[in-house]
Amino acid sequence: MSLSPSVSNSAKSLTQLARSPLSGISVCVVGAGPAGVYTALQCWRKGHNVRILERNSAARTQGDFFMIAPQVVNHIKTWPDMADENDRIAADPRVSFHRNTGERISGPSPFSFDKSEGSNNTDELDPTRRFHFHHRHKFLQMLISQLECIGVQIEYDCCAAEFYEDVDKARVRLDDGRTIEADVIVAADGIGTKSHTLVNGQDIRVWPSGLAGFRAAFPVEMIADDAEVSERTKILDDGHPHFQLFHGLGLHMTIMRTEDIITWGMTHKDEGTASESWFANVDPSTVMNYVSTIPTFPSFLKRLIELTPKDGIVDWKIMWRNPQPLTTSILGRVVQVGDAAHTLLPSSMNGANQALEDAIYLAACLELGGKENVPWATRVHNKLRFERVSCCQKLGFVNLAKRNNRDAKTADSKKTEDLVPEQGRWLWGHDPEKYVRENFPRALDHLQKGTPFQNSNIPPGYVHEEWAVDELMARVERNEPLGLGGDWS
Ligand SMILES: Cc1cc2nc3c(=O)[nH]c(=O)nc-3n(C[C@H](O)[C@H](O)[C@H](O)COP(=O)(O)OP(=O)(O)OC[C@H]3O[C@@H](n4cnc5c(N)ncnc54)[C@H](O)[C@@H]3O)c2cc1C
Repeated sequence: MSLSPSVSNSAKSLTQLARSPLSGISVCVVGAGPAGVYTALQCWRKGHNVRILERNSAARTQGDFFMIAPQVVNHIKTWPDMADENDRIAADPRVSFHRNTGERISGPSPFSFDKSEGSNNTDELDPTRRFHFHHRHKFLQMLISQLECIGVQIEYDCCAAEFYEDVDKARVRLDDGRTIEADVIVAADGIGTKSHTLVNGQDIRVWPSGLAGFRAAFPVEMIADDAEVSERTKILDDGHPHFQLFHGLGLHMTIMRTEDIITWGMTHKDEGTASESWFANVDPSTVMNYVSTIPTFPSFLKRLIELTPKDGIVDWKIMWRNPQPLTTSILGRVVQVGDAAHTLLPSSMNGANQALEDAIYLAACLELGGKENVPWATRVHNKLRFERVSCCQKLGFVNLAKRNNRDAKTADSKKTEDLVPEQGRWLWGHDPEKYVRENFPRALDHLQKGTPFQNSNIPPGYVHEEWAVDELMARVERNEPLGLGGDWS
C-alpha cells in the first residue's frame, strides 16, 4: 500500500533566504532521513559546501505521524520557502483523552505542553508554542523539496561501509568501493550506523526492550463504509482533526484522521512479531489477537483495526541503547547525528526533534569554529548536545513509568493530567541556534583550557549524572520514583 505524497513544492524566491558567507568547509552527510536532510539544509545555510549520500535508490519513508515540537517548528520558519508548506501539511488537532473502555475523560480541546496558567484555555494556541503533527513521509518530502530548491541533490545508491579520518580529512568508503572525502563527514545513517567502530571504538550494543509499537496510516476512503468508525474519527465541526488517546491497563492507543489519511498507533508487549523496519508488515489479525486480551477494548477500535489494509501495519520493535557520551571521532572529523548518535523511546516523543536539533547545533558550531577549527567545532557540538539528549532519553522513561504505572488509581484514572505525557518547557521553549551562539565560546574555552562551563539547555536545577537503561527500567518495573531532580515541567 502506498500513499500519494500530495506535497506541493511551494518554493518562493530564494532571495528571501539569508545564507552565511561561504565558510570553505566541505561537509558530506551520509543518510537522507530527517537528521541527514536537515543537516544538509542547515550546513548549506551556514555557508558550508554540502553533499548528501543515501543507500536507497530513492527517498523511502512510510509510517505514521510524528510530533514535531515548537523549537523545531519555529526554526523551520527561518526557511521562508518551507515555512508555509510546513504549516500546510501539518495537522493541528484537538485532543481528547479516554479510558480503555472508550469512555471520554476530557476534550476534544486545543492542547499544548505549556503548563502556564490559561495556556490551554483558548480556542487557538499561540503559534510559537504549537506542536505540529506531521505525516512522516510528507515531512521528509518537504525537507527534500527544499534541498532540491537550493540546488543540492541527494546522491542515491551510495551505501556507506566504513568511516575513517586523518588530521586533515574524513573519509567514507562506500560498498561499491568508492571513497569520498570531506573536511567533516556526518553519520546520519540511523540506528545501525557504520560509524560506531571509528567514533566509539566498537559497535554499540542495542538490545530489544520487550516493547513494540503497531503503527498504521492509510487513506480515509478505506473506512468510509463503516458509519460508526467514520463518525467516531470525523474531522470536528471547527475543521480541526481529532487526536484521541485511549489508555488503561494493557492499552495505550492513539488515533487521528486528517482530510486524507487515518492513522493509529498502539504500544504493546513484543511477542516476537516486531521488527525494526517501516517495510515489514503484520496482518490486522495479529493486532486483533493482542486486543482480544483486553476485555474492555472498544468495538469501533476493533473495526478500525480490521479495516486497516493487510500491508498497512508496521510492528516496530523498540530497542534500548545506553546514552553515548561520545558522538564525535577522536580527530573530530566524523560526527554522528540523529538516531546514529542516540535512540530515544517513542514515549519521549523526541527522536525526530532531537535529530533536527543536532542538525541545527552542528551547522552553527561549524560556522562559529571556521575552516581551521573543524575538529574543535565538532567537539563543542558534542559538549553542547550530550546532556540535553541524555535528558530527553530519560524523559522517555518518565513517560513510560507514567503510562505503565501499576497503581490502579493511575491506570484507571479519570484525570487527564495522569494521561498527558511530560514535555517540559526546557525542551519546547528552547532556541537551538541562539543557544549555540551564546555558548560556543565558553564551551570551546572549557574544552581547550579547562575553564568551568555548565550547559543550561537541560531542566533547570538538574545535575547530570551517568545512568544506564537497565537501572532505570528496573525502577520503572518496580514502580519506584526515577529520582530526576531539577524542574522538568
Ligand atoms: C514507532 C516510532 C514512533 C516515533 N514517534 C516519534 C515522535 O512522535 N516524535 C519524534 O520526534 N520522533 C519520533 N520517533 C523517532 C524518529 O522517527 C527518529 O528519531 C527519526 O526518524 C530519526 O531520524 P534519522 O534521520 O536519524 O534516522 P532514519 O530516519 O533512520 O534515517 C537514516 C537514513 O540513513 C540511511 N542509511 C542507513 N544506513 C546507511 C548507509 N550505510 N549508507 C547510506 N545511507 C544509509 C537510511 O536509508 C535512512 O534514509 C519515532 C520512532 C518510532 C520508531
